[in-house]
Amino acid sequence: MTHLHGDHVYGLPGLLESLGMWGRSRCLEVWGPRGLKEYLEAALARGEVEYPLKIGEVEPGVVLSREGYEVVAVPVEHKVEAYAYVIVERDLPGKFNERKAEELGIPPSPLRRMLIQGLPIKLPDGRVVTPQDVVGPPRKGLKIVYSGDTMPCEALVEAASRADLLIHDATFASEHKEEAEASGHSTAAEAAECAAKARVKLLFLFHYSNRYSDLSGLLVEARKIFRRSYLSEDLLKITLRRWGTDSLMVSLSKLDG
Ligand SMILES: [Zn+2]
Ligand SMILES: [Zn+2]
Repeated sequence: MTHLHGDHVYGLPGLLESLGMWGRSRCLEVWGPRGLKEYLEAALARGEVEYPLKIGEVEPGVVLSREGYEVVAVPVEHKVEAYAYVIVERDLPGKFNERKAEELGIPPSPLRRMLIQGLPIKLPDGRVVTPQDVVGPPRKGLKIVYSGDTMPCEALVEAASRADLLIHDATFASEHKEEAEASGHSTAAEAAECAAKARVKLLFLFHYSNRYSDLSGLLVEARKIFRRSYLSEDLLKITLRRWGTDSLMVSLSKLDG
């Protein structure tokens, strides 16, 4: 959870209870700013969550460090304590070139594994093979940034530097810029400016004011500044895959409602 405003947390207790009814048994971790634990415990006191629930409160910096990725909380500028989250996947080892390995006569494991781990090896006939001979360059891990609710924020630009995907507050169109400022939100153009400054690959706008029945105006103003801008929508699933060392393959689908 990025912050404790009602439009972000009022639906959470119901969802947590429903997950149990839908058969969840695995532990679920919910992370958010100070006060989240008190809020959820009070809201769930009379109900029943039938699976282990861990509620964690975040501070700026690394929130979670797991095998393969970490999540970093970045304070942003909103009306209350609020965080953006940066999900950083660790770099992946380069692709092992099987054909080349056969040609060089490298026997299977453990010698091949040593090459993948970056170690040179010596073959039984005395030839030395280095990782560069058979392993491609490392593939950059993915980086995904979720702004939560925020006004334009320098710390976010910095944290989003060269991210693959930035999901950014775009509550208003530029014609309502004063309102955006007064309520601690961004315009679509400001979201696009953040994306351009941070040199991200993709921008998805989200958190639209319900005054806009047609969102195309938001998209148009964002694309004038950052061409690879898109509108997110409820239940949209964005799948990212690393392609080559630093390119991106993207597919979009819709989750069942
Ligand atoms: Zn808010
Ligand atoms: Zn909000």
